[in-house]
Amino acid sequence: ATPTSIMVGTGRAARGGVLFRDGTALQRLREVRAIALDKTGTLTEGRPRLTDIVAPDRDAAEILSLVATVETRSEHPLAAALVAAARERGLALPALVNFEAVAGHGVSGRVAGRDVAVGARRHLDRLGIALDAGLLAEADRLAGEGRTPLHVALDGRHAAVLAVADPIKPEAREAVAALRARGLVVAMVTGDDRRTAEGVARSLGITEVSAEVLPAGKVEAVRALRATHGAVAFVGDGINDAPALAEADVGLAIGTGTDIAVESADVVLMAGSLGPLVAAVDLSRAVMRNIR
Ligand code: ADP
Ligand code: MG
Repeated sequence: ATPTSIMVGTGRAARGGVLFRDGTALQRLREVRAIALDKTGTLTEGRPRLTDIVAPDRDAAEILSLVATVETRSEHPLAAALVAAARERGLALPALVNFEAVAGHGVSGRVAGRDVAVGARRHLDRLGIALDAGLLAEADRLAGEGRTPLHVALDGRHAAVLAVADPIKPEAREAVAALRARGLVVAMVTGDDRRTAEGVARSLGITEVSAEVLPAGKVEAVRALRATHGAVAFVGDGINDAPALAEADVGLAIGTGTDIAVESADVVLMAGSLGPLVAAVDLSRAVMRNIR
């Protein structure tokens, strides 16, 4: 494409809320054969709400207060859900020390003299905490309903399972269908629970799902798609997406996402909705056609 047609193309995209960092990204987008999308915050609102507290023989309010206190230091959308739920219930959020976040796993800290950990099942595995069979069964049941189960450990013991539900973005289903109609392979790549991810993928019409992947696993997923299909675009919003955004032939960040994701991307979808993604694909094809 000529420099002029690229300038016109990126200018038009910007008016539609899609910022191309440079013209070569517009050219590369035309070559893309597969689009991989992160789930939380990309295909879903990323504003999950606490729906369940399963805490046999424990005080649910106390558990929520401890967990929410640890989450006050996390940027994860799941953290915001738990902090909001505690605030709505008027629960105290005491002081926190020894905070630690492990990307794609969860968070830990010390609150009111107790060791608190919350996150995916592998977070507790990593801490060497034995999992309770009853709570695991509850987590499976909640995931089957499309919710994300979070495991809580208190003082090294598996104490509770919380669940959060995150609504799918209203335009996501249509955007996925539109991308597929343009001949693109559409895949979901997520750190979330497999059953939760498959439930969400099913309702979006996505058949290729990589679930329970760590940030490095998202890079692997991009490479695997490239090996099978050709050039790959990755769309994401989180810190955990930054490596995959950098690895992809075209990395597209959700503009409402974290700074690190935006900085790692070639393209920014300013409004955070997926409609402009389809428009950007169309534009990349149109601009390249114009100059023939
Ligand atoms: P996604 O790819 O869907 O955006 P992430 O890779 O960010 O998901 O997180 C994967 C999983 O790690 C989450 O589903 C959750 O189980 C756990 N996790 C990560 N951060 C936190 C946190 N701050 N609090 C609780 N759980 C967390
Ligand atoms: Mg995300």
